[in-house]
Amino acid sequence: MEHANKRDTQNGLFAGFRTAFKSFATDAIHVGQEPEQWKSMAVVPPISLSTTFKQYSPGDHAGFEYSRSGNPTRNCLEKAVAALDGAKYSLAFASGLATTVTVTHLLKSGDGIVCMDDVYGGTNRYFRRIAAGLGVDVSFADCTKPELLKAALKPNTKLVWIETPTNPTMKVVDIKACSDLVHEHNKDIVVVVDNTFMSAYFQRPLALGADICMYSATKYMNGHSDVVMGMLSLNNEGLCERLRFLQNALGGVPSPFDCFLCNRGLKTLHLRMEQHFKNGMAAAKFLEADPRVERVIFPGLPSHPQYDIMKRQCTGCPGMIAFYIKGKLENAKAFLCNLKLFAVAESLGGYESLAEHPAIMTHASVPENERTILGITDTLIRLSVGLEDEADIIEDLDQALNAAHPKRLKMSDLKN
Ligand SMILES: *Cc1c(COP(=O)(O)O)cnc(C)c1O
Repeated sequence: MEHANKRDTQNGLFAGFRTAFKSFATDAIHVGQEPEQWKSMAVVPPISLSTTFKQYSPGDHAGFEYSRSGNPTRNCLEKAVAALDGAKYSLAFASGLATTVTVTHLLKSGDGIVCMDDVYGGTNRYFRRIAAGLGVDVSFADCTKPELLKAALKPNTKLVWIETPTNPTMKVVDIKACSDLVHEHNKDIVVVVDNTFMSAYFQRPLALGADICMYSATKYMNGHSDVVMGMLSLNNEGLCERLRFLQNALGGVPSPFDCFLCNRGLKTLHLRMEQHFKNGMAAAKFLEADPRVERVIFPGLPSHPQYDIMKRQCTGCPGMIAFYIKGKLENAKAFLCNLKLFAVAESLGGYESLAEHPAIMTHASVPENERTILGITDTLIRLSVGLEDEADIIEDLDQALNAAHPKRLKMSDLKN
């Protein structure tokens, strides 16, 4: 894997992480965006709203027939994302879940999926309640322990679904170890990594042995909280042909307008992710040092149980932080209700800071006993640290913690 760009390692904060992928910013800005592809020589790709394209004669056309099967604006986006993932091919979908559904259609009734036990709730719901109902054999394994993944593989296993880091408890999976053991077992099993939390800037699953890198582009890839979209990238030509067929046959494609917005968002992905990392690290360090906080889970901190894997397989860490506030549900609620800069909202990965209560909000559909096993308790809070000024982010966290613990602790009790 090439990794030549040097990061400005301020205060040694990011020491130990791999340096950024070679020419990432240049590719984000130029690949698929060539003005020469348009008669107008437009530097910014136009939004091609036409649903249909004139043919020279029946069957003889300029590469486009009908906008579901191919669209010029979508092409620009797909080419850019492929370059950012170090992949040959990329396909765009109407949402992250539309991507998951399309990938699952590679299977037929009787085939098996082994899924990481802690995945995005919608992925879990789709596999358990819809794919299983259509005869797909769905099972779950804790892939942070590769031997448990190995034990879960069956003769009918066709797909392995990994997410890392997981939501909301930030468990990290060793992508290379898992991909290698799955492919040793059976080279035809398709290993998918949901790379939503990391974005292409911080993690390249294909270079670590995965077959498909998948995104909810709704999050960091678009990064502006104004598009719902999904993407996947891959290198295998046959698999790509099959998925391109399914993209058209199932029809879960994004609109040209959304493709334009997401393509625009990618132009600043490298800048945004660096700042998410910096702000996330500052917030995580502040929380970890605060006596009103029980525990912080941030994969960029040495206290994270899989910090070594993070440093080995990632070029950095996004602004996602989970932490347990001291006290009870009422303290967690008081913290959230008193935030001023952070908005209490679901979703993540946009330029604005968000905070949420997984047990009540994003993970309410997970049964309580399972939530307890996963560590999704009443005092767990998830932050998506945005791109605002670091000092304002810390100040907001501090004043909300004060509101959550008005009598118990004073500012003078802070460790530093
Ligand atoms: C949001 C999300 C999804 C689902 O994507 P949508 O764009 O909402 O359909 C899948 N995986 C992860 C990790 C997510 O955060």
